[in-house]
Amino acid sequence: MKGLKIKLADDMLVLRQANQPATVINVKGCPIGGDSIVVVAGPCAIENEEILKETAFKVRGSGAVMLRGGAYKPRTSPYSFQGLGEEGLRILARIGEEMNMPVVTEVMDTADIELVSQYADILQVGARNMQNFSLLKKLGQINKPIILKRGLAATIEEWLWAAEYILAGGNSQVILCERGIRTSEPWTRNTLDLSAVALVKELTHLPVLVDPSHATGIRSLVTPMARAAIAAGADGIMVEVHPHPERALSDGDQSLTPKGFSQLMKEIEPIARAVGRRVY
Ligand code: PEP
Ligand code: MN
Repeated sequence: MKGLKIKLADDMLVLRQANQPATVINVKGCPIGGDSIVVVAGPCAIENEEILKETAFKVRGSGAVMLRGGAYKPRTSPYSFQGLGEEGLRILARIGEEMNMPVVTEVMDTADIELVSQYADILQVGARNMQNFSLLKKLGQINKPIILKRGLAATIEEWLWAAEYILAGGNSQVILCERGIRTSEPWTRNTLDLSAVALVKELTHLPVLVDPSHATGIRSLVTPMARAAIAAGADGIMVEVHPHPERALSDGDQSLTPKGFSQLMKEIEPIARAVGRRVY
């Protein structure tokens, strides 16, 4: 790219070649990329069927088109809730089906790829696994869309090379997700790097989502950053929502209530329109 000291191989599969259109990934009829903005919402972790069902029902009512929820959770402490595992996957798939929402969930281990693929419509690689190259290589061999989150302290170049691993394996359905990076700022959980969103949109043909929940760690900042993400050109957002955030088993502080989420949806609509997009 002119004026930028970017050293990437010209023939990298992630790069957008001249006249190459942006990649649109179709997930059960729901387009990610292109003109529309997609909203993925749900709890950090699947805790039980009732909570997931209530969350899904409410976020769908406000306009979310996909449901998220972790069954395998990468927690800092081994004593924190680790997720329900396969039981969580079963619950997620059941509720997704019932609500007619494609489902997104994280896969942490190569050994779980096959199982997670049986239940999920999109597999997520978490920030902590962005450079788990054996995981990336295996995900290159499956036929499911992958959300690749940016590593906690990854450069944009490292993030794109990580995506390249999946594309090089033959899986072209990669969705990038900026979720904040670690900086010297301690008052927010991470620092949302919106220039990275604009830059990877320019450099690559891949859809780019923003996760304003992990990017900030603070509930009141989620909606402002969601608005900013869409203004910066993101193709959608992934947001944590919990009916009782104070009782959530993980990430309650950054989870919106269903009411807060409904407000977020109202606020992103005019921003999407202002940048020539529409919320799908
Ligand atoms: C998540 O989305 O549940 C998650 C753990 O996010 P990250 O990998 O970005 O921390
Ligand atoms: Mn979380």
